Amino acid sequence: MSDYQMYIDGAFTEAESGDSYATYNPATGEKIADIAKGGREDVDRAVSAARKAFDEGPWPKMSGAERAALVRQMGEKIQQKINELAELEVKDGGGTIRKAMMADVNTCAGVFLKYAEYAESIPDTEDLPDFSVMPGLPGVPNYLKYEPIGVCGQITPWNFPLVMASWKIAPAIAAGNTIVLKPASITSLTALELARIADEVGFPPGVVNVVTGPGGTVGEAIASHPGVDKVAFTGSTEVGARIMQLAAPTVKKVTLELGGKSAGIVTEDVNLELAAKGILWGTFFHNGQVCESGTRAVVNEKIYDDLVSLMSEKAGTLKLGDPLDFATDEGPLVSQAQLETVERYVEIGKKEAKLVCGGSRASGDALDQGYFFEPTIFADVDNGDKIAQEEIFGPVLSVIKVKDDEEAVAVANDSMYGLAGAVWSNDIERAKGIAERMRTGTIWINEHHLLGPEHPFGGYKQSGVGYEMGVDGYRAYQAKKRIHVDANTDPNAHFTFSLIFSQ
Ligand code: NDP
Repeated sequence: MSDYQMYIDGAFTEAESGDSYATYNPATGEKIADIAKGGREDVDRAVSAARKAFDEGPWPKMSGAERAALVRQMGEKIQQKINELAELEVKDGGGTIRKAMMADVNTCAGVFLKYAEYAESIPDTEDLPDFSVMPGLPGVPNYLKYEPIGVCGQITPWNFPLVMASWKIAPAIAAGNTIVLKPASITSLTALELARIADEVGFPPGVVNVVTGPGGTVGEAIASHPGVDKVAFTGSTEVGARIMQLAAPTVKKVTLELGGKSAGIVTEDVNLELAAKGILWGTFFHNGQVCESGTRAVVNEKIYDDLVSLMSEKAGTLKLGDPLDFATDEGPLVSQAQLETVERYVEIGKKEAKLVCGGSRASGDALDQGYFFEPTIFADVDNGDKIAQEEIFGPVLSVIKVKDDEEAVAVANDSMYGLAGAVWSNDIERAKGIAERMRTGTIWINEHHLLGPEHPFGGYKQSGVGYEMGVDGYRAYQAKKRIHVDANTDPNAHFTFSLIFSQ
């Protein structure tokens, strides 16, 4: 029997094939557990359960307040399990315990609590202007009714397993949908713990389903399944494009949160200490394995040399080590494969630009068995270089020199991505002017990474389709129905009929 089973129709279950696969601790390379390895037949089971729960069950018919009570309990139970969830998140996916406690579990719980509040407070009807057949004729009342979309397939990445699962599950179920979630294969454990919490809370069977297994089979089966009404995906742009193709034949609604290559523009009047620390926070948080990471620093030439040396000095002080130690600043990368990707890009970077910090796999007693990589900075990067254009998803910063704000904005916008960005400046009006010219979905002025459950997050260009979080993220899980209410039952009073009846 697997250590971790899938969750379908209110019960934990093995894969129909009986297959399982191992998951490993990226800090030590040791095996943690065996997980049930799902296939298409398991997706069929989960979609049938979700379909039945939606088409015949109480969940979509319940009031927002009734659903909110269960969604809120879910958030509260997550919060109560902060220690065990944080530790499991670190053991399965790397990062650090500080991040897991402060960012991952708290955010995950907060998203459930916020969407419980939204389910209670966001109205499911909205008045529209009266409909008038002709100017001067009396209008007829119209209104909108918001309804759940149906069965939602959800596919999440490995970088923030708990947070990404909460971004998917909470808005969908709060709005009355049922879900089939597939977490990333290498970091599935905490999503299965969320399923355990959902089971304890007592959602009707089939409302929450979690199917574990490879993206190429389980993910593809979800994205193409005729019983699925909407697909929500976070991950690479390449797989996002594939999801769109798979969803097209049955015209599913699609929400995609994809890659990024976010720029942080630094003006010459900046507080250098703020810019240095801020850009490193923007780049090296969770080793840069974050879609909105600020991996390109676009720096005014007047402060360029000073900032590069200050950032190099500070990056050298980041402490790599045991991710379960609260004193550790950077844990391991998620996997051997991700480590190899980073190594490959760093070798490219060494040919394209000037390495000023890091550049190697980290070594030392506590590090040799894990996938640790030094925080790495390249200076004198040309924005056309591969390391400035492609998403590395590792601890690698590219610093680009510009002469003025106009060039800075042009460089920032010269990217296939448009997910996020930052402006570092002492002049807030100037910073706002720059921010408003950057073609991305989120921009922070003198900050980075702050995403909240009340604030919509989405990408321009190839960084995504649609929005998650905030009221937009709730509405993204609803269909909008217009209802036209003509109370006049006299056929002669309906002017429109004369368009086909001449007598
Ligand atoms: P993927 O985009 O491949 O994976 C994201 C999720 O999609 C996982 O659950 C994965 O399953 C699933 N998946 C993979 N292939 C398919 C498919 N054909 N159909 C449906 N689902 C699929 O990201 P990777 O983990 O491979 O990372 C590669 C790169 O993607 C990173 O280096 C980074 O650049 C980018 N990335 C971006 C993220 C973001 O937040 N924007 C997050 C993660 C990665 P499985 O785990 O089983 O492969």
